[in-house]
Amino acid sequence: MENYYIKHNGYCPICEKNVLFTSKHFWLRDHFICPSCKSIPRERALFKAISEFFPNYKHLDIHESSPVNRGASLKLARECTNYDSSQYYPEITKGTKHPISRIRCEDLEDLSFPDNSFDIFITQDVMEHIFNPEKAFEEIARVLKPGGAHIFTVPLVNKQQRSQCRATKDEKGKINYLHDPEYHGNPVDPQGALVTMHWGYDIASYITEKTKCPTIIFMIDNIDLGIHAEYIDVLISWKI
Ligand SMILES: [Zn+2]
Repeated sequence: MENYYIKHNGYCPICEKNVLFTSKHFWLRDHFICPSCKSIPRERALFKAISEFFPNYKHLDIHESSPVNRGASLKLARECTNYDSSQYYPEITKGTKHPISRIRCEDLEDLSFPDNSFDIFITQDVMEHIFNPEKAFEEIARVLKPGGAHIFTVPLVNKQQRSQCRATKDEKGKINYLHDPEYHGNPVDPQGALVTMHWGYDIASYITEKTKCPTIIFMIDNIDLGIHAEYIDVLISWKI
């Protein structure tokens, strides 16, 4: 008999089916999966935010940076007429396609898209790996159309504590580690992605101050939708 930490009958907002959400681990953030679409709680929360704030999402211009091969990314790619995505490959010219994967290369700190290109810009657990988050938030705001939004997840591990920079990069590309290096899994780099920021709830004010985009932290806790775990806040930052 397999041991489960939790099993819960519910409805998955991504695959739109009644499912038995399960986790074999107490850390639900990464392990409380939908057996049908393999999504995890933060992906279901992100999709719920997209569908509630932009119910016509299927017809909008959507770009996702660094999608994953499951859950909300696959659903949006499948359902939306004007969805596209990119990855960051340091060795590839921005705006061109990787010769093997055929995925467009984009650097969030220096996007190659024209101003006012997208209704929705999506990032999922990316903004804690950016060396110059001010530049990245400015760039995302630039490429959003007025009325559009950056909808994203990022672990707000510092909660009420101030956000903290963990590592910086100088003009020569040398990384300065301000604290012990921490890495998360990265689908396009087996070495993982260095965590550059521990964000707290002050991220919303930070973005508004840097980009003039009003930003909210949208917190859902609904176990019947499989949206129940630590650090699954969704941020929505509007270009006005
Ligand atoms: Zn599902």
